Amino acid sequence: MISEMYYLNEIVFGWGARERISDILSRLQVDRPLFVTDEGLLNSGLLKKIPAAEHVFSSVPTNPTEASVLAGLEMYREWKCDGVVAVGGGSPIDCAKCISLLVTHAPPLEKYAVIRGGLPLISSEKPPVIVLPTTSGTGSEVGRAALITFPNGEKLGIISRHMIPTVAVCDPELTIDLPPRLTAATGFDAISHCVETYSSPKFNPVADAIALDGLHRAWINLPLAYRGPQDREARSNMMMAALQGGLCFQKGLGLIHSLSHPLGGVSHLRLHHGTLNAVLLPHVLRFNSRECPEKMKSMAMAIGVHGGADVLAEACTSMMKELDLPLRLRDMGITQNDLDTIPAAAMHDHSTPTNPRMLTLADCHAVLASAW
Ligand SMILES: [Zn+2]
Repeated sequence: MISEMYYLNEIVFGWGARERISDILSRLQVDRPLFVTDEGLLNSGLLKKIPAAEHVFSSVPTNPTEASVLAGLEMYREWKCDGVVAVGGGSPIDCAKCISLLVTHAPPLEKYAVIRGGLPLISSEKPPVIVLPTTSGTGSEVGRAALITFPNGEKLGIISRHMIPTVAVCDPELTIDLPPRLTAATGFDAISHCVETYSSPKFNPVADAIALDGLHRAWINLPLAYRGPQDREARSNMMMAALQGGLCFQKGLGLIHSLSHPLGGVSHLRLHHGTLNAVLLPHVLRFNSRECPEKMKSMAMAIGVHGGADVLAEACTSMMKELDLPLRLRDMGITQNDLDTIPAAAMHDHSTPTNPRMLTLADCHAVLASAW
């Protein structure tokens, strides 16, 4: 069964939902869509499963760069496209959002970054963006943010409600070939969105309710999807949990993302965002625990354990072991030298103001050291 929902944008959700893409494009009067994906997905043949994928731009790296956005924009203009369809995980989705932005917004891209004061510069006058996620994690299909790495290594968030894709087409069948390692890592991204949203001190009980349900859903289904990639129900539930993470994280994320954003920008390491979040999660839970003990108990309850941040953190570590994820930053090939610039960058990250516990540079150093 395919469901239609409307919260922040239009969502078409269900097994085989991609078959609706031609109808959606014609309804939006898009005749020549630019499909944005990455090389891995292109080589896997997945695009063949999607109707109307003719003009394809696939040069999107893990952690999209400004250069990849500009290259995609060039193809958009050369092929005289009139809309963008992203197929992939967070990287092609974020790249597609920024291609659409620059079709009508003058460069440089950096001036639209939220920390550069770019929010009021972004208007709704942009070509439509349709998103088909192929992972269950980023929530970028319903998210306001696009994260782009700039030539100086900075990873900046371009954030506006006008960056929310026009339509999210969530077809869990597109995730059945996702390898277990990526299933685990992206699943932990979804979990970290629910945890950080719920912990955020902003008042938004609607987001809190979505976050707790998303956390519960991901917790039950992630091990099932990891062990049984063909499990349709587990795959559907993971895609829903990722969507829920994306629907609620407008309430603000926290220290996990403040640290994983700059770590993801360290170009010689090419670290996976979800894996970084998994490794940081138990340490940030313990660090934040004194600021929101009741919330820690509620989250523990949502995953079926009783206690506070310690119990919750231990449960996360056990789950990471079960899913064969690295437990420490050094297990990911990160050296102490790689960490030098991270605390200062984290202090400027757009997720930092909504961490439940106020952060100092020393705190960022300490949490990184404990996760290393
Ligand atoms: Zn994330």
